[in-house]
Amino acid sequence: MPIMTFFSSLEFLKSAQKASQFPPDLGREVAFSGRSNSGKSSAINAITARRSLARTSKTPGRTQLINFFEIDTGHRLVDLPGYGYAKVAESVRQEWRVLLEAYFQRRESLSGLFITVDIRRGLKELDQVMLSWSQEAGVPAAILLTKADKLSRSSGLAQRRQIAATVAVPLILFSAPKRLGLEDARVQLLTWLEPEA
Ligand code: GDP
Repeated sequence: MPIMTFFSSLEFLKSAQKASQFPPDLGREVAFSGRSNSGKSSAINAITARRSLARTSKTPGRTQLINFFEIDTGHRLVDLPGYGYAKVAESVRQEWRVLLEAYFQRRESLSGLFITVDIRRGLKELDQVMLSWSQEAGVPAAILLTKADKLSRSSGLAQRRQIAATVAVPLILFSAPKRLGLEDARVQLLTWLEPEA
């Protein structure tokens, strides 16, 4: 199925604050995670060509919600709550950890994880935590190195090489406004959602 046709039916399904609110664990879903302000919402919107599907919370880190979107029965995208926002209370950090751990441990349909990482900042501790949770769950991950337009091509490639020396997952140079890395991200997404196609 052509990719744009595939995403044209994408619709918000529900938000979950705890595991009992997750939609039925059937079919396949691909999740997006990343630090607050890393460009996660912009990446979701660019990849799906849906301008305002994912929204940045105006008050980052207040409500820790997992947002589920449905493409069709058995194909979902999942927007995981952003992390790493400095002003978040310890109790909210703890909620985030419990919610995300429950998600990674239980979610049979989770078939792939994108982590958005600002290319200028590199991977931080919580990005590594996401990588290790996905690894423990046997879920493949890929990193979108966002805001690549902020660096020259050669600096971007050098930065990717440096990061590649520390992690063993695909690294995609990405820019939402410049539409860089969109095709690679879409191919990766479809491979996870429809491996048999
Ligand atoms: P989120 O909090 O991770 O969902 O981040 P957003 O998608 O809301 O982006 C945070 C800020 O970074 C916004 O001001 C975006 O316009 C900007 N941004 C996101 N992606 C890019 C990118 O690829 N290039 C540039 N230059 N800015 C970006």
